[in-house]
Amino acid sequence: MKIMPNRLDRGFELYQEEFEKKAIEVLRSGWYVLGNEVKAFEEEFATFVGAKYCVGLASGLDALWLAFRALGIGKGDEVLVQGNTYIASVMGITMNGATPVFVEPDEYFNMDTTKIEEKITEKTKAILVVHLYGQATKMDDIMALAKKYNLRVVEDCAQSHGAMYDGKITGTFGDIGCFSFYPSKNVGGFGDGGAIVTDDEKIADEMRVLRNYGSEKRYYNKVVGANSRLDELQAGLLRVRLSHIKELTAEREHICNRYTSELNNNNIILPTIRDKATTVWHQYVIKCDRREELIEYLNNKEIGTIIHYPIPPHLSEAYSYLGFREGDFPITEKYANTVLSIPLYNGMSASEQDYVIEAINGFN
Ligand SMILES: *Cc1c(COP(=O)(O)O)cnc(C)c1O
Repeated sequence: MKIMPNRLDRGFELYQEEFEKKAIEVLRSGWYVLGNEVKAFEEEFATFVGAKYCVGLASGLDALWLAFRALGIGKGDEVLVQGNTYIASVMGITMNGATPVFVEPDEYFNMDTTKIEEKITEKTKAILVVHLYGQATKMDDIMALAKKYNLRVVEDCAQSHGAMYDGKITGTFGDIGCFSFYPSKNVGGFGDGGAIVTDDEKIADEMRVLRNYGSEKRYYNKVVGANSRLDELQAGLLRVRLSHIKELTAEREHICNRYTSELNNNNIILPTIRDKATTVWHQYVIKCDRREELIEYLNNKEIGTIIHYPIPPHLSEAYSYLGFREGDFPITEKYANTVLSIPLYNGMSASEQDYVIEAINGFN
């Protein structure tokens, strides 16, 4: 049996008729950018997370970039972020000219909130929280520190659509929640897409201006903005996906609960969930000291896996100018060398799950 790490075609097939009907409806409407579908999606997504406003954007990276810009964070400012994130989180900071200050992760792969305070300086302006792999970060600690030091909080929710901490949905704790709708995300489109959510009307207004060349009224440009609009086709298709998000998340949870209860191998460490936190299982990430051997063993059984992420941002060529070296963030680096995401997707059959479980249990 051949099993790929992800199967986007399966997620499409689950609601194929609805997606196709919506696509044709939008194509026939004659209106393709910033129209009724985007407006409806923004309202539905804001309701889903429990925020007052949602502004659709072209990508998750744009959401992060424009979020810091809207908060006025740029050159000379420092933003705290966990070391083991996807590099886009860091780019959202540096695209504004601000400096990322890395914090080591905890055992749940999220920012270790006990290591934040030692990193705060006069220049620190914000904390960028990444709810990595779908699990909510310990937000009570984050918000207490933000209050104590008067810091802004931006949440990178690209992997955590609907995940909660203490009953509250991620993206609604801080000033701005940033989302991606890249096809492989839990609320995935059929191309690029993103959004911010906020309770602050001023920030929402500013985002609408920034995404559209800096104009509120057509051809009257207040600032040098971006072209970062969610298109009607994506918005329409995302409305279909969002309408099924409860069952989609439940399906991921079912698969991952099977993994947690049935995977049994001393060579691997399974992911765990923090007290008061939930995960929407964007990835099921195991750790293995003999990772390269495990990958090859699974490859021989035609089971594909992915490493999220092999090179931490501080060691990436893109950030060589920050001057970090191997050994600067040992926990982050240890994760980069041992984590492995095993196959997980909506529409994964029981026999595919069985095959993955049996194969991993047989690794020795
Ligand atoms: C996917 C992702 C992004 C970037 O989103 P895009 O829509 O691909 O630009 C940012 N942060 C994290 C944690 C992500 O997983």
